[in-house]
Parts: sequence; C-alpha cells; structure tokens
Amino acid sequence: MAMWNPWRGCRKYSEGCKFCYIHKGDSKRGVNTNNVVKTNNFNAPIEQNKQGQYKIKSGQTVYLCFSTDFLIEDADQWRNDCWSMMRERPDLHFIFLTKRIERFMHCIPDDWNGGYDNVTVGCTIENQDRADFRLSIFSKLPIIHKNIICQPLIEPINIKKNLNDVELVVVGGESDYNARPLNYDWVLSIREQCIDKNVRFEFRQCGTHFIKDNKNYTLKVRELCSQAKKANINC
Ligand code: SF4
Repeated sequence: MAMWNPWRGCRKYSEGCKFCYIHKGDSKRGVNTNNVVKTNNFNAPIEQNKQGQYKIKSGQTVYLCFSTDFLIEDADQWRNDCWSMMRERPDLHFIFLTKRIERFMHCIPDDWNGGYDNVTVGCTIENQDRADFRLSIFSKLPIIHKNIICQPLIEPINIKKNLNDVELVVVGGESDYNARPLNYDWVLSIREQCIDKNVRFEFRQCGTHFIKDNKNYTLKVRELCSQAKKANINC
C-alpha cells in the first residue's frame, strides 16, 4: 500500500465535509486548507532510485488524493500529468474518492474510453439527497472499477437502484466530538441492499456517537474501526 498526494488542500463541498479531518488538522497547524497547492510528491509513482527502479514497488494499491479531492477544479491544470503516470504504471492499482463526481467527464484524459483497468473510483455520499444526485451520475460513467463510500453516513439511505456494476460499498460514521450520530440500523439496511444486489459490503468505522438497539454510545477515535470490525458483518 502506498499514498500519493500530488496536491493538497480542499474546500468544503457538502454536508459530509462538516468535520473534514484535513481541515481540522490544518487549522491546528495554522494552514489554510482552501489553498490547493502541488506537493513535493507530485511525481511519486514514477520516481526511481539510483538503480533505476521505481520507488513504489510493483503490485501495490496506491491511495490517491486522500488529503484533497482528485477532481477539485483547482487541479485541472495538473491532472493530466497524473493520468500519464497512472498509464506508465499499469503494475499499480490506483484508487481515489471524490465528492465531485459530476466533474468526472470533464477531468478524464483523451484515451480514457471505457476507463483504465488500474483505477478504482470511489463516489462518496453522506445522505439521501447526495446519494440521489451523485449516484445517478456515477452509475452512467465509463469506469471499470466503482466503489461507493457512505462515510460519514448521517442518515438512512436507499441506494439499491444504483448498485449495478459497483464492486464495493463502504459504510462509516463521523469522527468528531460534535459528530452526527450513526445508527447501526442504517448500516444493516445498506448491508441488506448490498446482499440483494450481490455487492461486497464493508462496515469500516463506527461514529463517535453511535446508536445501537436504541442505546447511545460515545466512542474514542481508536475504537471507531475496531468496534466496526467486531461487528463482523462484512460480506
Ligand atoms: S471533499 Fe473531502 S477533503 Fe474536501 S473538504 Fe470535503 S471531506 Fe474534506
């Protein structure tokens, strides 16, 4: 597994961004997250060592733009160089998530055609309104590997009609002292929708405020993923 952040910074875009961990971290350091800037790691996938070998070893999953949004407007001038590097490394698998899926067709390279086989796109949704809007677009896009990321999930959602051609649905709650609660019933409902459509499902993290069997729990950050794992409902 490798991380690749060719640029950093992002602007809040929808309800799911309310407690964005990038903004929270930056504000502690006095960094303005709204400034989108290239990083020193821009060329990471094609950087080589003195022996002429790629520094990112073959066969890895590369998590792209996990401190920004790959489709943000500010990066339109840089994105084609990233596509070129992904083309140069068919031995790696790249995955990025976006809340800006409506920009996708504007952002793809000329040779995209039906999609690159070494790229997974994750469409992020948080409520029914954004699910209806983004998934109606996402379901029609030429992408070979599609994931849906329901995180932070802030209300119950029905996405069953948009699960065709989706490889994986991930569900997670919100992490913050003031986070909106995650109700376990919403998680189980999405799981049932996935089972009906034969789509892989993963419960990735609880919320700081978690409701199960009508009881409210407050969890520490370090418990969010481990408690989700204990639920043992991935399928
Ligand atoms: S789109 Fe993602 S990175 Fe950007 S502000 Fe929202 S949560 Fe943060």
